[in-house]
Amino acid sequence: MRTERTSSSTTARILIVGGGFAGVNAAAGAIATIGSAGDRVAVGLISPDPFWVMKPRLYERDLTGVRVPLAEVLDPLGVTRHQASVRAIDTDQRQVVLDDGSTLAYDQLVLAAGSRLALPDGPGVHCADSYEQAVELRSAVDALRSGGRRFRAVVVGGGFTGIELAAELAHDAEVTLLAAPTLAPGYGPRARKLIEESLGSLGVAVRAGVRVSEVADGAVLLSDNDWISAELVAWATGPRASELTAQIPAARDSLGRLLVDGYLRAGAPGVWAAGDSACAKVDATHSSVMSCQHAGPQGRRAGENAAAVALGRKPRAYRQALYLTCLALGEREGLLTCGFERNTVLASGQEAAQMKRAINHGLIYPPAGQDRQAMLKIGKQAPPGRPLAAAIARGALRSRRVRAKVAGAAPERSAAYATAERDAAEALS
Ligand SMILES: Cc1cc2nc3c(=O)[nH]c(=O)nc-3n(C[C@H](O)[C@H](O)[C@H](O)COP(=O)(O)OP(=O)(O)OC[C@H]3O[C@@H](n4cnc5c(N)ncnc54)[C@H](O)[C@@H]3O)c2cc1C
Repeated sequence: MRTERTSSSTTARILIVGGGFAGVNAAAGAIATIGSAGDRVAVGLISPDPFWVMKPRLYERDLTGVRVPLAEVLDPLGVTRHQASVRAIDTDQRQVVLDDGSTLAYDQLVLAAGSRLALPDGPGVHCADSYEQAVELRSAVDALRSGGRRFRAVVVGGGFTGIELAAELAHDAEVTLLAAPTLAPGYGPRARKLIEESLGSLGVAVRAGVRVSEVADGAVLLSDNDWISAELVAWATGPRASELTAQIPAARDSLGRLLVDGYLRAGAPGVWAAGDSACAKVDATHSSVMSCQHAGPQGRRAGENAAAVALGRKPRAYRQALYLTCLALGEREGLLTCGFERNTVLASGQEAAQMKRAINHGLIYPPAGQDRQAMLKIGKQAPPGRPLAAAIARGALRSRRVRAKVAGAAPERSAAYATAERDAAEALS
């Protein structure tokens, strides 16, 4: 086994596992906290993927610019990139084992390895959980619709991703959406009615209360013994946290997420967790959900805290009072809600579709241009953590003028990253 250590007796090592929303925000948070003490703390980030994937866009038809090269963000920050997969975490020895058997030592570890959707075996089963899977899904759609033919698709899962996929696929296919136990289970009755109406107007047939028992060639068998034809099956039943969470000796929830404390500490000394790999309290009563909305600020705070502790300072608590959801319902409609009951509708129809575009193509992206000062702020303008600030933001978003300003002001950074994505992909191939 090859062993490599970055150790020096005076330099503390922060290792971040994962290059998604939580991981990149952790890197920015750590570097911003370290400030001028850069010679005392070194930050490294491990990810098998050289890209930061803007996952909320993966249901979209055009995936151009969906991957931001990690080098564009991490190099200006001075974060060391390790393109590798972590196979094991040894919390006693404070080291991680990489896929080639080598090890990296850490003083502080931020686990931000995200989540994964398990797919059932079966012909024609696709999903939009990773970039590669989303590309395969799009290729399958393109092949099926050749000659302008509309094909039959079944979407399995009536949550956020299932709804967004069904609405998008309705452009090319006759779509049946299977939702068990119900459509949009996380939404309140008013919002759910709007979702039902939008899906209805797109021609999506919703069947609630049924599950898939078997996937065969060209059809699926439902739990009520009905067969329906399906040339394409899009799976969207909800992911589980990275299996790496099982390597930390700490309690996990039913999704495999580490139950972190108010500072995002994950049970073992020097270990922090954020994003889809963590379950954190966002306020007195609610826990975080798997979303980049929570992954970003959690990552930022976990990185800040890892750096603070490495410098002998106190960590700061994580809190995130404002919770918004912005759902795409095809290209022309959307739904923006506020609060965990997801029933206070701030915008719908075309206006919400514009907000969604502003979010997916602008707000979730890092600043373009490899500007270190701008990169240091990644995650900083995230939803405010204080209840008062959240109330002000909520109130402001009720104003049509403010929403229009947000939608109009967000630069389309996806286009700015399209060239960088293409160049990096070509260099890798
Ligand atoms: C189609 C779709 C639509 C979505 N829509 C929304 C939305 O509208 N709003 C919203 O807030 N959220 C949305 N989400 C969810 C959101 O994208 C995730 O919650 C978010 O990406 C989680 O961030 P993360 O950093 O925890 O994980 P990820 O972004 O998944 O990043 C995980 C990182 O860990 C790396 N990694 C994995 N395993 C290892 C390993 N063993 N070793 C090293 N690195 C590893 C991966 O390569 C990756 O870089 C959507 C997701 C999907 C799929």
